[in-house]
Amino acid sequence: MKTRVRFAPSPTGFFHIGSARTALFNWLYARHTGGTFVLRIEDTDHERNTEEALTVLKDGMRWLGMDWDEGPDVGGEYGPYFQSRRDDIYAKYLEILRKNGRAYDKDGAVFFKVSGEEQVLHDAVYGNVARTEEKDFPIFRSNGTPVFHFVNVVDDICMEITHVIRGQDHLTNTNKHLELFKAFGAPLPQFAHIPLILKSDGQGKMSKRDRGALIEEYQQKKFLPEAVVNYLSLLGWNPKNDREIMSAEEIAKLFDFPGIVKSNARFDERKMAHFNTEHIRMLPADKFRALALETVKEAENIDLGSDGEYVKKVFALCQPKASNMESFPSMVDYFFTDEYAFDETAKERVFKKGDPLARLAEVKEIFEKLDSLEAEKTHDAIAAYAEAKGVKPTEFFSITRFAVSGHAGGPDLFPMLEVLGKDRVLRRIAAALKSLA
Ligand code: GLU
Repeated sequence: MKTRVRFAPSPTGFFHIGSARTALFNWLYARHTGGTFVLRIEDTDHERNTEEALTVLKDGMRWLGMDWDEGPDVGGEYGPYFQSRRDDIYAKYLEILRKNGRAYDKDGAVFFKVSGEEQVLHDAVYGNVARTEEKDFPIFRSNGTPVFHFVNVVDDICMEITHVIRGQDHLTNTNKHLELFKAFGAPLPQFAHIPLILKSDGQGKMSKRDRGALIEEYQQKKFLPEAVVNYLSLLGWNPKNDREIMSAEEIAKLFDFPGIVKSNARFDERKMAHFNTEHIRMLPADKFRALALETVKEAENIDLGSDGEYVKKVFALCQPKASNMESFPSMVDYFFTDEYAFDETAKERVFKKGDPLARLAEVKEIFEKLDSLEAEKTHDAIAAYAEAKGVKPTEFFSITRFAVSGHAGGPDLFPMLEVLGKDRVLRRIAAALKSLA
């Protein structure tokens, strides 16, 4: 039987990291098994589940690369994929329960009559969980709207969902759901409840107010979606291969229920940032260049000029040192203007000891004698001079970097000087000798 899984969000205007992780685990399982990933919108709360809220969700899913095979915008044979458009189906299913004597009216609402039998859930993650639902529960409110438990189960039946992968917070609902499946005489899907995502201090569930909790934030901060997917995949899943940095394809290949862990996951902002950095480094040069170009163009205060080769060299030089794309423009701005600022903290550090300006004047003389600043040649020229003079070569390095960039850190010094080129470097050193004096 072909796997059919669904992500069944109730759009509220935010795409929470926990929902994204649930969507991801469903998407991964569908891709792993060659099955179908359904997006079903549980929009029975008409006030909150607006078109706008849906757009946030769909944008976030598309940004993360979680394409759905059936659902809004793409259609499918099991639609409509909005619960708000399935009233006639719910009416039919209610009829079935009434006929079986399992539904009755009370105080204007419709109640489901429980069997009173113990329900044993065979959960793929949490094992056997036995519970008895003691009390009848409402399935339609007195205003006529259907209740979550009822529509959720009816849709899973109608849409022939084979595996229900959802947050552990639904574990306690599942006995109600098992009662309903059985009342309809429907086969049970395989359930897999996934652990919660806790705040970084472990004190409670990540809420939408916690930093890092919303997918929109990562979009705005220019995270690589593949890094977010990678990080989310490891919140509650362990590939047991000692690997952390993986592409979505690799993850989909490895993803399966035995790797899902029971213990709650803890959100770690620093780790997410680290994954982002790793994925930036892994990007093929042309992909990185395209992204860098887009990012820098958006920054607006940088004029890249007309030398495409130069831009290409700058980006290639900076890729290994780029920790995130949001700060990338400020990492490269000095390559494109002589009007860069000198960082005050860096200045203090560079001028703490020795006579940096004297060293800088010497560097200028050394460089003037070279025909180009090819990295190795430049390095050797300074090293030879330093040795003859009996000074440590590092005394020349930090002031040179600071003079030509205004920073204390950045790409490797000599490749950087090579990319900047002799003319630009000499011009900047001359100006720095004046302005820093
Ligand atoms: N609409 C429910 C939720 O967002 C779906 C639960 C389920 O996946 O069954 O939590």
